[in-house]
Amino acid sequence: CGIFAYLNYRVPRTRKEIYETLIKGLQRLEYRGYDSAGVAIDGNNNEDKERFIKLVKKRGKVKALEEELYKQDDLDAKTDFETHFGIAHTRWATHGVPSAINSHPQRSDKRNEFVVIHNGIITNYKDLRKFLESKGYEFESDTDTETIPKLIKYMYDNRESEDTSFSALVERVIQQLEGAFALVFKSIHYPGEAVATRRGSPLLIGVRSKYKLSTEQIPVLYRTCNSDMSGLSCFCVLLCSAIIEHTNRVIFLEDDDIAAVTDGKLSIHRLERSASDDPSRAIQTLQ
Ligand code: GLU
Repeated sequence: CGIFAYLNYRVPRTRKEIYETLIKGLQRLEYRGYDSAGVAIDGNNNEDKERFIKLVKKRGKVKALEEELYKQDDLDAKTDFETHFGIAHTRWATHGVPSAINSHPQRSDKRNEFVVIHNGIITNYKDLRKFLESKGYEFESDTDTETIPKLIKYMYDNRESEDTSFSALVERVIQQLEGAFALVFKSIHYPGEAVATRRGSPLLIGVRSKYKLSTEQIPVLYRTCNSDMSGLSCFCVLLCSAIIEHTNRVIFLEDDDIAAVTDGKLSIHRLERSASDDPSRAIQTLQ
């Protein structure tokens, strides 16, 4: 199983380029073993340009997913969004048989308001599912993972303010989760934004920016959370081999770190603990 996400900020790509990046990322993770694969990308309706999340999921090899994606006729069209965030997953089923519906991204509802890719196991998923079903959220898969997009939708539906940030919602979600996870979230409510987090499963972020960051700048960047990172691209992957062709500057997330990219700015904070000067969170250079 593997997860790979790619955010391109202010660099419009064609649909084909986005698919190629996602598929290549998954292929690099392929040797971990998996039974199905899927992606979520931004689509839009030509008439009113309303943004939606397009999900494509397939049982079987990444090749089958790739063929499905390339059946599209608008591959060379530039995406209509200057910031595009795509997420991709290969699944090693633990809960629910290998099938398109059980593969990831898993979604909050039929409108795909929130979609999530997950590596790991949520051990309290039965209780979470019971709670969410009692609140009227309808499940479509047999996975433990589906509780996560439903839970974030529940947090969104019950948010106390219109300004609640994507990462604040994710923080509330992971407070309820037990088990192991590396997660990446995408939402139509937070277009062009990415949130990733982990506990027990590894996750790293690759950073590619047109600005050269000195080692003095890096800790400041993560403490202040507001340095200008225009031109930043962000990847979240499980293995270094998938990332090295894009950048050799990576951040290994620690347990309960929440990483968010908003307006091209990357910020990382840790749940319940203040962001420290922990050197392991500085950007490292892969050999
Ligand atoms: N437990 C999740 C599932 O069965 C994730 C499996 C994985 O790590 O690929 O869908």
